[in-house]
Amino acid sequence: MTRAIRIHGVGGPEVMSFEQVPTPQPGPNEVLLHHEAIGLNYIDVYFRTGFYKAPLPATIGMEGAGVVLAVGEHVTDLRPGQRVAYAGGPIGAYATERVISADRLVKLPEAIDFTTAAAMMLQGMTAQYLLHRTYRVQKGQSILVHAAAGGVGLILCQWASHMGVNVIGVVSTAQKAELALANGAQHAIISHANLASEVRRITHGAMVPVVYDSVGRDTFAASLDCLAPLGMMASYGSASGPVPPVDIATLGAKGSLFLTRPSLASYTASREELRAVSDDLFEAVISGAVKIQVNQTYALADAAAAHIALEARRTTGSTVLLP
Ligand code: NDP
Repeated sequence: MTRAIRIHGVGGPEVMSFEQVPTPQPGPNEVLLHHEAIGLNYIDVYFRTGFYKAPLPATIGMEGAGVVLAVGEHVTDLRPGQRVAYAGGPIGAYATERVISADRLVKLPEAIDFTTAAAMMLQGMTAQYLLHRTYRVQKGQSILVHAAAGGVGLILCQWASHMGVNVIGVVSTAQKAELALANGAQHAIISHANLASEVRRITHGAMVPVVYDSVGRDTFAASLDCLAPLGMMASYGSASGPVPPVDIATLGAKGSLFLTRPSLASYTASREELRAVSDDLFEAVISGAVKIQVNQTYALADAAAAHIALEARRTTGSTVLLP
């Protein structure tokens, strides 16, 4: 038997229950994995609330690190005992053991411990593709990063700063502002009430070529107003709720803007892309350019408390669940 957090219906954190379930067996091209650590991500909240749909009952969770217990037929490059990590669908990470397709796993370098790995795979690979593919940031540019003290946010601040980019972080409290500034942001804006005028002041009127907006409904319109002509609006999350439909004429009127709603799944769809993105992340972490900050850990059984803290904006950096 294995232990897993399962949901039988969608709703608040209380729908999660810690249960005994039969240990799954790996099929062809699959691996049975024992989790040493599991990553908490905002997408877990979307699945729990039903904003993203999954057949029920479901074990949510998209990220973990651990040890291979058994491999199915045709798996040639992994064997029991190997240290591995992953991020992305299908859901099923909130469990002591799970089965996963072998081609979604990457081998974990010795220098990276399981807790760090579980904290960084999803948020770190997201930061990687946002900075290197969605919009290729260049040394000397100024960029706007929402939820700058959050999981993805703190990684974006550090990585972009390491690349010589001037990060303007948006946060909700003075304490989070301090954290963003200590992690590479050059400027921190508390609250998004006068966002465009603050960005205009900081950039001396130039505005920014890219906005990384994970907040969604509450900040989308203000974010568009922060872009320079031909700028890129990367709307990659909806922590405050979904962005309402957009009239594309607005993009023209505000300066021929680009708008994308990127997701990690598209950027790591092939094995080669997954390897390239994860290798780049491992290098950033091992070199010290990016320090993964696990600022909260919870027992897997207490996943509900972790969700409550995340939704109440009480977390900073990354959060890990320990089985
Ligand atoms: P965070 O650690 O960033 O937590 C969410 C943060 O969002 C909060 O701490 C808070 O920061 C901010 N926020 C603003 N408004 C709200 C609100 N109404 N309710 C809750 N939080 C709010 O989470 P993650 O790093 O896990 O994820 C960040 C975002 O990135 C999520 O929206 C997630 O869905 C998205 N994401 C997208 C991916 C993709 O590929 N598209 C991949 C990974 C994450 P503050 O208090 O400073 O405002």
